[in-house]
Amino acid sequence: MTAGLPLPAQAATTSVTEPDRFPAGRPLLIRRATVITMDRTRGILPDTDVLVVRERIKAVGSKLSAPHGTAVIEAKDALLIPGFVDTHRHMWQSVLRGMGADWTITNYLDAVGKLLPHLRPEDVYAGNYLGMVEAVADGVTTVLDWSHGSLTPAHADAAVDALMAVPGRARWAYGRFSLDFSWVTSGEVDRIREARFSSDDQLVTMQLALSAPTDSAGDAAWRYAAEHDLPVTSHVGVFGADTDPAVTRLADNGFLSPRTTLVHATTLSDESYRRIADSGAFVSLSTESEMNMGQGYPPTGAAHRFGIPISLSVDSVLGWSGDMFTNMRAALAAERGLVFLRAHERGEPVITHELRAADVLHYATLGGAEALGMADRIGSITPGKLADLVLLRQDTPSMTPVISPVGHLVFQAGRGDIDTVVVGGRVLKHQGELIGLNLPQARRLAEAARDRLRSAIGEETWQNLIDPPRP
Ligand SMILES: [Zn+2]
Repeated sequence: MTAGLPLPAQAATTSVTEPDRFPAGRPLLIRRATVITMDRTRGILPDTDVLVVRERIKAVGSKLSAPHGTAVIEAKDALLIPGFVDTHRHMWQSVLRGMGADWTITNYLDAVGKLLPHLRPEDVYAGNYLGMVEAVADGVTTVLDWSHGSLTPAHADAAVDALMAVPGRARWAYGRFSLDFSWVTSGEVDRIREARFSSDDQLVTMQLALSAPTDSAGDAAWRYAAEHDLPVTSHVGVFGADTDPAVTRLADNGFLSPRTTLVHATTLSDESYRRIADSGAFVSLSTESEMNMGQGYPPTGAAHRFGIPISLSVDSVLGWSGDMFTNMRAALAAERGLVFLRAHERGEPVITHELRAADVLHYATLGGAEALGMADRIGSITPGKLADLVLLRQDTPSMTPVISPVGHLVFQAGRGDIDTVVVGGRVLKHQGELIGLNLPQARRLAEAARDRLRSAIGEETWQNLIDPPRP
């Protein structure tokens, strides 16, 4: 009897050739991957090696020779991408994961209003710590913490402590869940910036998260940000609030610039989109959140049409997933569905798609890096950039065969397919296992914070929040 087809010698995706894995400072060679560089001049490179020396990508090419003592990951045919960049996530809410699966924005604001008075610095620490571990595990190598749980300086310090306790890359966006802006100019921002953010080379850097009122209440804070060269992220274009007048005011005062990211930016007029485009500001679209919670319809098509650079974001795991694969798919489905709906209402077919899988992968990687002003350092697999990398398994049914790498990555892959995550040259996950991250600690802290918030607001309120009565 014949033996049938021989199995390939290396059916599994990766293997480490050295037993002691990845000590700090040791060069790393990822061999023979399909490299989706997201670098406009390099494109997709089959059967390609990536060499990492210290924190940076040293070389991208075929049959690279490695320095003595290099750790090697065999990755034949596996997809390798730059790490995802999430430009807006309320990390403190990670301790309340999944609570708001059935929430509208109205339910959300009601719940946050009830929970915030009970939020302690320890709870913010727990949320940020868990959120960072989650981000790294999911290949989100850079996350912007939209930190409006930083209610006091003690809360702010706790938020920063947690981000710095986990070796992922983060941008801490200092905010407050209020329309009081006095903390920005009172010395508090100076204090924490001088104490914690003395260098731009840190894994965690800082900016501001400010709301955009339609009166002069926020002017001094926005001006402070501009004068201190601090980027600003702001929620605008949320249905019923922060719509065109907010954009007009920001634009009229010169507060919109390439250092600004506008979150959601739904329900705006063409004139507002034009002014955003003219300013060079970015948008951050949280499509899974927007479609489920009702901030407004994701403006992917409008932003695309007006030439506004787009990034993607999770927003909150309170309701929605922390998973950039889901957010890429949600962005495509929402926009394509809308285009079909409008065409079909006119009795016309849609022959080809305008929005492509490659577009949303750009939004989730290099687009995010551009929004954070970090595209010279992260966002693509380019020699000289920081080595923030995500390697996908290829030994699962859904990852075989790969015909169109980008389409496959966007529609077939998920967080469970992530084999290896590298941040700044440091391997933090390999063969699906976290390395050097304390998940048990993250879980312990998060569960304690959840339990305490639950007892603080009372069981009846807690249950009513989870399951709001139907109309
Ligand atoms: Zn938000």
